[in-house]
Amino acid sequence: MSKLISKWNYPTTVRFGAGRIKELPDVLAATGIKRPLFVTDPGLAKLPVVASTLKILDDAKVPYGVFSEVRPNPVETNLTAGIAVFKKGKHDGVIAFGGGSALDLGKLIAFQAGQTRPLWDFEDVGDWWTRANSDAIAPIIAVPTTAGTGSEVGRAGVITNEATHTKKVIFHPKLLPAIVIADPELSVGMPGFITAGTGMDALAHCLEAYCAPGYHPMADGIAVEGIRLVFENLPKAFANGKDLVARAHMMSAAAMGATAFQKGLGAIHSLSHPIGALYDTHHGMTNAVFMPYVLAFNREAIEDRIARLAAYCGIRGGFDGFAKAIVKLRKELKVPHALPGLIKGLDMDRKRKALIADMAVVDPTAGGNPVKLTKKAALTLLENAIAGS
Ligand code: NAD
Repeated sequence: MSKLISKWNYPTTVRFGAGRIKELPDVLAATGIKRPLFVTDPGLAKLPVVASTLKILDDAKVPYGVFSEVRPNPVETNLTAGIAVFKKGKHDGVIAFGGGSALDLGKLIAFQAGQTRPLWDFEDVGDWWTRANSDAIAPIIAVPTTAGTGSEVGRAGVITNEATHTKKVIFHPKLLPAIVIADPELSVGMPGFITAGTGMDALAHCLEAYCAPGYHPMADGIAVEGIRLVFENLPKAFANGKDLVARAHMMSAAAMGATAFQKGLGAIHSLSHPIGALYDTHHGMTNAVFMPYVLAFNREAIEDRIARLAAYCGIRGGFDGFAKAIVKLRKELKVPHALPGLIKGLDMDRKRKALIADMAVVDPTAGGNPVKLTKKAALTLLENAIAGS
């Protein structure tokens, strides 16, 4: 019994369903936001999905500002620019609208605008979040338009420190959005590459959370159903982006992944983070490349768990059957089997590989891997992902 000690966090309100974006003015009223800053990325800003959402605000006569200087894998200069716009416009809350990049940056603007200490003082290390002035954090409404990161239900924001070329996770309980609108219609326009990459991100979150050691039966239960939803719906959403049922289930799976990963993540993410920071690759797609190599590496610790999961998902053949199903799913989604398929002209020397292995073992996610991620293991996994073997 002594190991049955845990901590569970499930406080976000999610208004889920097609068409619910029209409730945005009501959600603003419920959160007390009167002058929101609408944060999105420049690609989305040009799409009808943003124009139609802003029209809802116009029709409700909401005085809002727009900030869209958010690059994929956002960096601190994006945050500094966003905070300047937030302060100049005297905004009192944020509508974070987009994929993980826009959601994270929007959340971090609401968080950091009122702080006096530098952002890096709030990294997800021990209790560093307690250094923040909690009363100065503005309320956040999150509206995802991809289905992968689950940032909308998370208490963290990921941002790259350009000085050190490292992806950092900033954590504070009040980074959790007050209300989420999860409207699958907003994700219908996602191109195939992003549908596949974000969907595999949701799978990576569920899978690594499920395999992480520790007692968290709620996270485990959420993760296995999230994985089943991905197997059943991601190929459908990829084949036909207008399949609203598949899009809806993927949006659920994304929120489920991020809810589950409060239990922990693992070596897929530990390796994907340095690759994303150094090569600016898509986060979910990078996770997808590493997935089968890490699964095989962890086998001894997770074989029984994966066999149970496979049975739940209707996949025959226990661990081996599940591993094959992952490879088949990747192939169907046109995920490259090896890193050179993701990073054109990839040519890593020994020094660069050693640097990535060093970064992987100190990544905050490494501790959640069911088998200890040593530098030697990280190097082997990297070599495997480069060779595709
Ligand atoms: P993204 O936000 O970087 O978006 C990728 C591209 O998709 C962009 O060009 C965007 O314009 C486009 N796009 C988004 N929605 C679209 C739509 N509906 N139609 C057409 N195009 C659309 O991608 P992402 O995978 O959602 O987010 C990745 C980021 O999230 C990374 O920075 C990653 O580190 C971070 N992340 C955060 C968490 C967290 O817990 N906070 C978890 C995982 C990943």
